[in-house]
This record gives sequence, C-alpha cells and structure tokens, in this order.
Amino acid sequence: MSAEIIDGKAFAATVREKVATHVARLKEEAGIVPGLAVVLVGEDPASQVYVRSKGKQTVEVGMNSYEHKLAADTSEADLLALITQLNNDPAVHGILVQLPLPGHLNEDLVINSIDPAKDVDGFHISNVGLLGTGQKSMVPCTPLGCLMMLRDHLGSLSGLNAVVIGRSNIVGKPMANLLLGDSCTVTIAHSRTRDLADVVRRADIVVAAVGRAEMVPGDWIGPGATVIDVGINRIDKPGGGTRLVGDVDFASASAVAGAITPVPGGVGPMTIACLLANTLTACCRANGLEEPEGLTA
Ligand code: NDP
Repeated sequence: MSAEIIDGKAFAATVREKVATHVARLKEEAGIVPGLAVVLVGEDPASQVYVRSKGKQTVEVGMNSYEHKLAADTSEADLLALITQLNNDPAVHGILVQLPLPGHLNEDLVINSIDPAKDVDGFHISNVGLLGTGQKSMVPCTPLGCLMMLRDHLGSLSGLNAVVIGRSNIVGKPMANLLLGDSCTVTIAHSRTRDLADVVRRADIVVAAVGRAEMVPGDWIGPGATVIDVGINRIDKPGGGTRLVGDVDFASASAVAGAITPVPGGVGPMTIACLLANTLTACCRANGLEEPEGLTA
C-alpha cells in the first residue's frame, strides 16, 4: 500500500483564501479590519524568520499587522506594559508573543497577561481550561491545523482510536483535547510509555509530536492509519548539508499508512494559516459577528 500524501501546503493555501475572503467581506460590510500584533523580544534568528513570515502572511490576507520588536534586555515591566497597551487597543484583535522569551522573562506570567480573547496562540491558562472543558476557546495553532487536516481527510473522527505521541502544552495536550472533542478514543504517549510500538500500532490516527528525527518506523503503523507528523528535525545529509525530517520515518511509514503528512510541507504551513484563522475568529467574536465556518475547532 502507498499512502495518500496530505498536502499541508495546499491545504494551508485554501485556509488563507477562506480567511482573505472573509476579511474582505468584513471590510466591505462592516468597515472592520482584523489586526494581529506580534511581539518579538531579542534577536533569535529563527524567531525573526517566523515573525517576518507571520507579518507578511497577515498583510497578504488583508489584515493589519503590527510588529513590536523589543531589545533582548527589555524588562518584564516594559513588556507587560506593552501587552496592556495592546489589550486595550481596539484595532488589535490578536496578540502573539513570540516564544521562547529571553531567560530573565517569566513566560507564563507574560502569556497570562494577554487578554484571553486576543490570545491567538491559545496558550493563556483560561483558553487551556476552556479547551479542556469543551468550551469555546482560542485553540493553539499547530493542533488546530492538524485537526483541520484530519477532518478534511477522514470526515467524522467519531469513535476512531487516536494516539498522540508527546504531551507538551503547545502540541500534545491540546491535540489530545481536540481529538477527544471530536469523540476519538485518545491515548497520550510520552517518554515513559511502555510498549510504544504496540500502542501506536492500534491507532487509526497517529499524531507524532516528539522532536526526535524519524523515531516512528513504518512497522509501528497500523495498515491504513492516518499519520500526522508534527516533528521538525534537522539532520545531516550523507553528502554534506542538512535536511528537514519529521518524527516519523516517512519512507517506511508511507508504505503502510493510509495517509500521511510530509515534512516539510505538512503540518508546518498550517500553523501560520491557523494563526490567521484565529485572528479572524477573535475579530468576529470581539465585534459580535458570526464566526467563519470551518476555521475553528
Ligand atoms: P516538547 O519537547 O515540548 O515535547 C516532546 C514530547 O515528546 C514530550 O512530551 C516527551 O515526553 C515526548 N518524548 C520525548 N522522547 C520520547 C520518546 N522516546 N518516546 C515517546 N515520547 C517521547 O516538544 P513540542 O511538543 O514543543 O514539539 C514536538 C515537535 O514538534 C518538535 O519537533 C517541534 O519542532 C515540532 N513542532 C512543530 C510545529 C509546526 O508548526 N509544525 C509547531 C510546534 C512544534 P516527556 O513529557 O515524558 O518528556
């Protein structure tokens, strides 16, 4: 069997198109332009690339992008003051503080100072609680992107066995909650899980979010399973240079799985697309307007 490839790049383009269409309608019918503020503290090169990409895509879908670049030695008080200002700014519907923050800043404190209604990363403790209790929340972008791809590919997820490998607050745990919300039977695996191969083999849906290059081999995958590979790992190429691979061994897994996301070009592009979707959702909620269909959990 050769797995169907779930093309995250193409799917992300359709999500951005939907967002852009809705944004244009908002502008025309209500004179409202959604705005996303991104706060970057310091000069981490990877974070700079992400922030640039987020700003560019925000503008491309017709939203306003506000970038706040702060020095690496910015004090916590100054950062919190900026967040308060953004919380109170009616033109800003979404606020994202790029992580990781420099070591002297308390990430939990900073994230929890964002107005939960503007917390488009879905990391605020209120949003975590709302998601965990099945209430309307802002949903973390990467797991939301995975859910959208699963729904698009499988239709109803009800009753399916899902295994999430990884229990981080940004991917594993919210992913498990989303799958539970769609009535999957969910197992969360982690570094202490016994017989991981056996656990994975029983799953109809496998979401790998570990951060270990190609650790899930094809013979762990049940025939026909749908595999979502969140991992992004850079490995050396035999002839020199590097390349990106996921947490799943794509070659062997795609011979067994029913469908699989590639790395790159799978989950990655969906994350920013879902950030834009969340910003639009936050804007609609803030203005008491109908939320766009198919762009939320
Ligand atoms: P974390 O490091 O926060 O979490 C990794 C999880 O994997 C932990 O729960 C850990 O278990 C578990 N784990 C580690 N080793 C094993 C093992 N041998 N067997 C089973 N479980 C194991 O990572 P993140 O959740 O932040 O990210 C995971 C991956 O996803 C990374 O590659 C990251 O780059 C990528 N990522 C991709 C995104 C995208 O946009 N595509 C966005 C976010 C992340 P324990 O808790 O027991 O330590």
